Amino acid sequence: MNALDYTRDLVSFGSISSVSNVEICDHLERTLKQLEFETERIDYVDAAGVKKSNVVGKRGNGPGGLAYFAHTDVVPADNWFSAQHGPFQPTVKDGRLYGRGSCDMKGSLGCILAAAASVPRQRQRAPLYITGTADEEVGYLGASEVARRSVLFRQLVEEDACGIVGEPTELEVVYAHKGTWGFRAVSRGRAAHSSTREGINANLAMIPFLAEMKAVHGVGEMKLTRYGEAFLRAIATVPGDSSPAKRGRGTAEGGGGGSAADENA
Ligand SMILES: [Zn+2]
Repeated sequence: MNALDYTRDLVSFGSISSVSNVEICDHLERTLKQLEFETERIDYVDAAGVKKSNVVGKRGNGPGGLAYFAHTDVVPADNWFSAQHGPFQPTVKDGRLYGRGSCDMKGSLGCILAAAASVPRQRQRAPLYITGTADEEVGYLGASEVARRSVLFRQLVEEDACGIVGEPTELEVVYAHKGTWGFRAVSRGRAAHSSTREGINANLAMIPFLAEMKAVHGVGEMKLTRYGEAFLRAIATVPGDSSPAKRGRGTAEGGGGGSAADENA
């Protein structure tokens, strides 16, 4: 089988993140076993009660080696572009493969499987690890289960294998990735009739903080190493009562101007 054959098989599984990926994991594990890998499964149940699974495969022993990582889930395909074939009916047209996940990232997984198949087991001089995780598109949940619980993952870390993540990068080598830091800031105001001038507008109180956040964003975009420093400076200068809390996207909510000052933003 070549890379296209492997990819076609993978794309035919409708493994969008909200449904179970167990079937595609069974398929991946079978394929790895055919290629003489030992395999490990790391199963879990997601927050919606859906069974999810990760596969870690290893072929060969010894120090070093190569560790390849892919995810088996894909983003939804509710508004598919073509009436001629569905998102999970892999179709080649004009030399390109169409189907959800062909690029991100079942194509890449298909390529590493074909590469592993092309190297005879006896000629392999260092271990090769192949991992397929769940729920990458919705928070890397499968990868964190693997990092926490997988024996083979622990081995590849201890043996100092080189890691490759097969995400699409237009064939450029990308050696670093932006991270994220989520928190919730609350600005508290005080409601009062505007005639008294005793009100505190929570939206206005939030503005210096937002300006700092904009500066942090700008610094982070320009120079990664200064991000932490700028972030801490911004947190230290939040006016009023603000509390970092849970992960979330930046959303500011607050009432408009009226005779009463906005209380919370
Ligand atoms: Zn991806």
